[in-house]
Amino acid sequence: MRRSPVWHPFTQHALEPAMNRIVRTEGAYLFDDQGNAVLDAISSWWVITHGHRHPLIMEAIRQSCESFDQIIFAEYTHEPAEELAKGLIAVAPAGLDHVFYSDSGSTSIEVALKMALGFFHNWGVPRSRIVVMEYGYHGDTIGTMSAGERGVFNMAYEPMLFDVDRLPFPEPGREQDTLDAFEAFCRGGQVAALLIEPLVLGAGGMLMYPASLLAELKAIAARHGSLMIADEVMTGWGRTGTLFACEQADITPDILCTSKGLTGGSLPLAATLCSAEIFDAHLSTDRSRTFFHSSSYTANPIACAAALANLDVWKTEPVIDRIRSLGAMHGARLMRFRADGRFSNVRQTGTIVALVVNVPATGYLSDAGPKLRGFFKERHLLIRPLGNVIYLMTPYCVTADDLDRIYDAIDEAADIIIQGGVP
Ligand code: PMP
Repeated sequence: MRRSPVWHPFTQHALEPAMNRIVRTEGAYLFDDQGNAVLDAISSWWVITHGHRHPLIMEAIRQSCESFDQIIFAEYTHEPAEELAKGLIAVAPAGLDHVFYSDSGSTSIEVALKMALGFFHNWGVPRSRIVVMEYGYHGDTIGTMSAGERGVFNMAYEPMLFDVDRLPFPEPGREQDTLDAFEAFCRGGQVAALLIEPLVLGAGGMLMYPASLLAELKAIAARHGSLMIADEVMTGWGRTGTLFACEQADITPDILCTSKGLTGGSLPLAATLCSAEIFDAHLSTDRSRTFFHSSSYTANPIACAAALANLDVWKTEPVIDRIRSLGAMHGARLMRFRADGRFSNVRQTGTIVALVVNVPATGYLSDAGPKLRGFFKERHLLIRPLGNVIYLMTPYCVTADDLDRIYDAIDEAADIIIQGGVP
């Protein structure tokens, strides 16, 4: 059979079986060309919030196509982008007053880093250090890889990555070490910004920390005149139980990045929200102070229309109630794993749950990862463990029966890989 010319992301083509070909999506399910319904337990890389092809969002996209395709976003603007900016400012933590559009999570972070450095540069303040948290993930561009955890993923590109300062992850009982490390970096007077995933570090292993720590980090940053960039690319749009995770710490970051669930997961779009101070630092009759960033598809009108419809869904449907009951359904089902010796570090923040399967080999390249993934795939469950860490991040429309199926499969899978002697 002729090989497909397609090169898939995060895929070792020498090891992976043939791709499932998906022909349709609906709700929590992907339908393949063999007639199988695959339960999407990770929301297609965390983008789908309400469910695949939410009718309101699909209708907004259809209607928008009657008037728009792409429009240059310098010199020209359009209603979907204008309305969406107002809508985002209304629902985001108070004090974020400007919206810069881009097209992916990674670019929203690149934009944030450039805003932070531009802010100090334009005021003539020599600050350019970026502080991040151990195990963080912010994307796969050179800038975001630089800020993310180093490892097998970015080893080959190391010569191109810039240096950042790293805080230890706040393990339970060791939170003060994280705060002390941040305080020490800030005292050096060079810190432009702390870039952080609020409450849950996603690709680094679904590691969770308390909102109080986030609030304390924000207070330290503010005391030293450093900015806080909240990477809400994964945590935004209800994942952690509130619309944005920052709400739980009762903080407003100086810059907030959002993508993924911004359009309900239907189309690529990102937004970087910032305070008036950051916008104003770039506002000048001196053209050298311009914010020099653009990408061709900035503020695609159809994607903006999809995001506006997503805001409507949040306004007109009981999304927060749905999230609350989904969180409770997970909580009830996780109970049996908390006392089960085959698992450890069973954890949950809102609709995100994760648990470690106790096998000797840990880390992303643990053989447990592909074995578990293969097991779930045979059962038509889309679950992609991070090494021996199984996590779930379903669309909000999953049913109790869907969850029972998932948790029963996790129970069975652990036996198979532990007894199968995964090293
Ligand atoms: N930040 C976080 C926290 C993420 O989880 C991701 C993607 N998984 C990104 C940034 C990058 O987003 P994208 O893949 O859309 O570039």
